[in-house]
Amino acid sequence: MTITLMWFRSDLRVADNRALAAAAARGPVVAVFLRALPHWQRHGHGANSLDFRARGVAALKDALAGLHIPLLHRDIDDFAEAPATLLTIAREVGADALHFNHEYPLDEQRRDTAVVAAFHAAGLEARGHHDAVAFAPGELLTGKGDYYGVFTPFAKSWHRQLTADRLALSDTPAPQDTTGIAGDPLPELPALQDSPIDGRQWPAGEAPAADRLERFLRFRGRHYGRQRDFPAIRGTSELSPYLALGMLSPRQCLQAVLAENDGSLAEGDAGLVAWVNELVWREFYRHVAVGFPQVCRHRPFQLHTEALAWRDDDEGFAAWCEGRTGYPIVDAAMRQLVATGWMHNRLRMITAMFLSKHLLIDWRRGEAFFMRHLVDGEFCANNGGWQWAASTGTDAAPYFRIFNPTTQSQRFDPEGTFLAEWLPALAELPPKARHAPPRDLLGGVDYPPPIVDHKAARARALDAFKALKAA
Ligand SMILES: Cc1cc2nc3c(=O)[nH]c(=O)nc-3n(C[C@H](O)[C@H](O)[C@H](O)COP(=O)(O)OP(=O)(O)OC[C@H]3O[C@@H](n4cnc5c(N)ncnc54)[C@H](O)[C@@H]3O)c2cc1C
Repeated sequence: MTITLMWFRSDLRVADNRALAAAAARGPVVAVFLRALPHWQRHGHGANSLDFRARGVAALKDALAGLHIPLLHRDIDDFAEAPATLLTIAREVGADALHFNHEYPLDEQRRDTAVVAAFHAAGLEARGHHDAVAFAPGELLTGKGDYYGVFTPFAKSWHRQLTADRLALSDTPAPQDTTGIAGDPLPELPALQDSPIDGRQWPAGEAPAADRLERFLRFRGRHYGRQRDFPAIRGTSELSPYLALGMLSPRQCLQAVLAENDGSLAEGDAGLVAWVNELVWREFYRHVAVGFPQVCRHRPFQLHTEALAWRDDDEGFAAWCEGRTGYPIVDAAMRQLVATGWMHNRLRMITAMFLSKHLLIDWRRGEAFFMRHLVDGEFCANNGGWQWAASTGTDAAPYFRIFNPTTQSQRFDPEGTFLAEWLPALAELPPKARHAPPRDLLGGVDYPPPIVDHKAARARALDAFKALKAA
């Protein structure tokens, strides 16, 4: 009997999984998960995403058990141990091939290259599949043959070249004959108990992910375009943790849109089309990580911005992290992040811009803080979002476009509902006064004054960027 190993990473599902389907087409499959906690922690992942991942692995193990596929679970300290660990497993179970789905950040790519080389050197097959994207990085290029560094032409090309087969769902394998190989018990997670998030808010696995997708499209998808920017409304899908760890595939999302939208991703219902655009952003940032690998080395996409004179301001950074900048929309958002492990997209933009522009603090400090707290923390989107806000990245917000946190708050939380939820002290104030609480109205309310003046901070950021241009 020839066994194929299926190495799961951020593709924790059995449905529509390109590598799993290819592995199962060869015969009996044994699944492997390598837990690289110290390495992931070095990548900045915190308890929330690690806990969600661990719960996702447990759900995957159950789903695999239904297909009679055993899951082997091994701990490694460093990605460098992956080739030897996987080869040992291959020998133990008598496997002649390994299948996996690609991950795109540089470190993950290098790990996979080493694994493939080790398998080939041992006379075994090893094959990666492009599963998290419709187009493999490098398939969509500009007229000059370069990777796209701007989103809109990338998205146009994505839509233009999309064919049905790229969105075709892969079959879930049929239950296989037993291999006689026992799976491993899953380990306890002692190091991760400091995750503050409530597992009921983010139940892990394919079933809750599919359920969320279905409910989003049924009740909110068509309103997405109008509601997506208002943090007090649950107007977005809240699917990001599931997509980040592959408990749901982008194809499943896009197929569901096709079914709802008369077979179109680019025309028809404006809400659904806007949502598809976000999924294309997700794919774009994966291509960027491969095409511009400096972003994976803590460097800006726009290399000239490396010279920017970021401020060394531990006090300001602490105030931002702890939600006490005196700008209610920033503070409420940061409290949402720390308490729930998630933050609304509009608020990610506002808080990231506040840190990198108003406080002129290096965006990499904010990127790392987000990564430590986000349950959906994912390198490509997080890095892309931060570099956008800091005006160092692709499609960067032009450096002179600096959100005014107060007007953003008035516009996107007009009744101050979100502010009142996360800053209960401000709930006592009339809604319109919550955006920039006047000191005389605050009375005994414990809320700090703004740590920077918007106009002065804006001028300081503009000067820093102009100095860069001049240099
Ligand atoms: C500073 C900053 C940091 C971010 N960090 C992350 C991160 O670590 N992980 C992450 O998944 N997203 C990140 N995003 C993107 C975006 O904020 C989240 O994906 C979104 O808020 C998740 O909510 P949702 O699932 O309801 O999204 P929806 O609005 O329902 O969008 C659907 C899906 O599209 C993808 N998506 C949406 N917006 C973006 C975007 N701008 N870039 C890339 N993909 C997108 C996500 O997978 C999301 O689940 C970041 C954005 C910014 C500005």
